Amino acid sequence: MADPLIFACDCGKIRGELSQEARKAGTRIVCFCADCRANEIYHKQPDPAPGPVDLFQVNPDGLTFHQGEDLLRLMRLSPKGLFRWYAGCCGTPMANTLAKPTLPFAGLRSDRFANKDALGKIRARAFVPKQGKQPRTEGAARMVMSLLSRMISARLSGRWKETPFFDVDSGEPVSKPEVISKEERAALLR
Ligand SMILES: [Zn+2]
Ligand SMILES: [Zn+2]
Repeated sequence: MADPLIFACDCGKIRGELSQEARKAGTRIVCFCADCRANEIYHKQPDPAPGPVDLFQVNPDGLTFHQGEDLLRLMRLSPKGLFRWYAGCCGTPMANTLAKPTLPFAGLRSDRFANKDALGKIRARAFVPKQGKQPRTEGAARMVMSLLSRMISARLSGRWKETPFFDVDSGEPVSKPEVISKEERAALLR
């Protein structure tokens, strides 16, 4: 049976695994925001709406790539948007990160794992649409506390430097971000 902590892109050229520690410290959430949806549509994945996108939030040092790390590509839905990493080979969305290695964080696409149930229960639901009201995040405090405690421990231990997404000396991402235009983003959500 496949190891539940193995992840891969659709075509299988990118493949890696999540450490057991990272799984334990990670937080599974679902996100209903327009950007997460736009990202899926941009990469020709099924439109998640009205449902959310399933993500597993971890420290990047918990990721080990077995192959295809050099195929990671990067896009942003706006000049200040999250870094959205995808597989250059087949276009599968893989992970989101913040824009700097000194803010160690990755939101992995849970569907990339052989068995996403192994990632645990859903701890938060972000940007849940509410009829006639602002979207609400359920479990926000838990999500933010877990994220901060992971970030702080990665910073204090120096583990933040072990990231597949950045060159830590320059602080630059390993792939040049391509930023899509406002119009292009709007068209995705039509
Ligand atoms: Zn989102
Ligand atoms: Zn691929």
